[in-house]
Amino acid sequence: MKRFEIPVGISARHIHLCLADLEVLFGEGATLHPIKTLMGGQYAADERVTIVGGNGRQIEAVRVLGPLRGDTQVELSKTDTMFLKLQAPLRDSGDIEGTPGVTLVGPKGQVTLEKGCIVAKRHVHMSTEDAMNFELKDKDLISLDFEGERSATLNNVLVRVDASFTLELHIDTDEANALDVKPNQSVVYEA
Ligand SMILES: [Zn+2]
Repeated sequence: MKRFEIPVGISARHIHLCLADLEVLFGEGATLHPIKTLMGGQYAADERVTIVGGNGRQIEAVRVLGPLRGDTQVELSKTDTMFLKLQAPLRDSGDIEGTPGVTLVGPKGQVTLEKGCIVAKRHVHMSTEDAMNFELKDKDLISLDFEGERSATLNNVLVRVDASFTLELHIDTDEANALDVKPNQSVVYEA
């Protein structure tokens, strides 16, 4: 049996915007301003928006990730969806058909989405080379072991393989808190 360690990355709530929504929120001709490079050509932008739920509750300063996408997508934790009283389902990024919308407020305007709110499924990014080592392929589902005081096994972890990816497990803030994830924590995969 082979034993691999995978670094853990925690995804805080964030938003991907389409061009039309960017221009409503930040003004005509607006562009995103990258402040931090993420894997796979993505980046954290300086731009942030406020999310307003149907119950009027707000979550402020939600980070926008670039580059722009074809559809606006809001990735929340389960705790966020309860706070906003939104029935957002667990989905893979990009799969937003039939998901609830929400209102986004930016410095120049606001937009009410008809869909786009999801709780992202836990997933692990890996390069093509990692995938060969692990003997895995894109879209496989694996189990990973967390060690430590709140040790647990995470099942149904989606494998995402791309040449531009670096090895990292992505979980949301609820999962990280439940597992009491520490800085530089890694998780174990046994093949
Ligand atoms: Zn990810």
